[in-house]
Amino acid sequence: MKVYDPFENFLTTFNKAADYLGLGKDERDRVAYPERQVEVSLRVRMDDGSVKTFEGYRVQHNSARGPYKGGIRYHEKADINEVRALSAWMSIKCAVADIPYGGGKGGIKVDPSKLSEGELERLTRAYADAIYPVVGPYTDIPAPDVNTNGKIMGWFCDEYSKLNHSFTPAVVTGKPISIGGSLGREEATGLGVVIAAKTMLSNFGVEIKGKKVAVQGNGNVGSVASKYFAKEGCVIVAASDISGAVFDESGLDGELLRKMAVERKLLSEYPLGKGGKFVPGKDGNQALITCDTDILVPAALENQIDAENAGDVKAKYVIEAANGPTTAEADEILEKRGVIVVPDILANCGGVVVSYFEWSQNLNRYYFSEEEINERLAHKMKAAVNNVYGICKKYDCSLRMGAYITAVSKINEAAKMLGR
Ligand code: NAD
Repeated sequence: MKVYDPFENFLTTFNKAADYLGLGKDERDRVAYPERQVEVSLRVRMDDGSVKTFEGYRVQHNSARGPYKGGIRYHEKADINEVRALSAWMSIKCAVADIPYGGGKGGIKVDPSKLSEGELERLTRAYADAIYPVVGPYTDIPAPDVNTNGKIMGWFCDEYSKLNHSFTPAVVTGKPISIGGSLGREEATGLGVVIAAKTMLSNFGVEIKGKKVAVQGNGNVGSVASKYFAKEGCVIVAASDISGAVFDESGLDGELLRKMAVERKLLSEYPLGKGGKFVPGKDGNQALITCDTDILVPAALENQIDAENAGDVKAKYVIEAANGPTTAEADEILEKRGVIVVPDILANCGGVVVSYFEWSQNLNRYYFSEEEINERLAHKMKAAVNNVYGICKKYDCSLRMGAYITAVSKINEAAKMLGR
């Protein structure tokens, strides 16, 4: 069986973009490969007195446009190959969003649900100690990713600050508000998804108001997207989570979907009206992917739209709120069928944009209101979408390729100016 290597996957798309730009081997080499890969062994005292060793990673992909930026993932399947690919995607995402960062990513091979809170804190502090020499507010700025959160960022910030002998909130983003987190960060990704969808549709001369929307995943990103799609006058015809999917042609309540996510209530408990129905589990989630809708928003996991269901997708627009929700084969099928896919590196970049605002507020020690943050987010998202759309027209390519071309040319130009 062929072992799937996500970094090879990155290289395939990267090389297509490099072909469009006519880049030679040297230029490709300076943009494609990580600048530094760190693997660490973390020795952690467990509650029962034993000591366990965990593997940790930090990959710094490219710093030509600014310090490395990217999350830390705690997952039992985390490995250096995955982290390498994720770090490369961050270089691309930051360049598409036009924020002054390169890309990085970190991870620890661990199932955090098996650790006590104390063990999780000691693991996080051990990781911060181990990668201390290579991170910093002007070097590499981590953030939360899968199974990590504001509390974990707080421990990381504290450990770094102790080693640094000064309070250094700008070393991580996604922090709680009380220690320098930004207002608006929690909703930034979902709100950005809706701004991206609205702006891209308007480029195609289509108004978003009145469009039917189906959102897979009612978590932090999906529930916020549902709330703002509803505010734009869209009809949320379907929403799902791990319990299954709810469908209602007359429209689900966007505010309620958000409230349920905040209260960690599953959609199996959604109070459906007369015309509504609930389809449990995987079947519900599959039915959502192929339901009668104008806009499909995968906001849960990777590989949800695949070669098997892509031919049955009825939506005209797919807005990738999750990272990697469409397989490479499905992407080709959708493109041939004329379905417009707004790629993850563009659609969900609102999160890293507000992380950038958080970092910049920390460095300047001047904090903005939520309205100011949202206004700046909208400005950045619209500019990024319109820029990618312009590149697609110029090169007559898909939006995903347009985003890659945008990013690769920016990173390559910066590297050239630095004489790398
Ligand atoms: P989350 O954990 O808050 O929500 C995930 C949602 O997906 C939940 O409703 C969960 O029930 C549902 N889900 C989980 N497994 C499922 C399954 N097998 N079938 C259907 N639904 C399932 O996560 P999130 O922060 O909303 O992230 C969602 C996606 O967006 C991920 O791909 C993440 O990498 C990406 N993303 C998140 C951010 C961010 O700021 N949170 C930024 C960029 C990208």
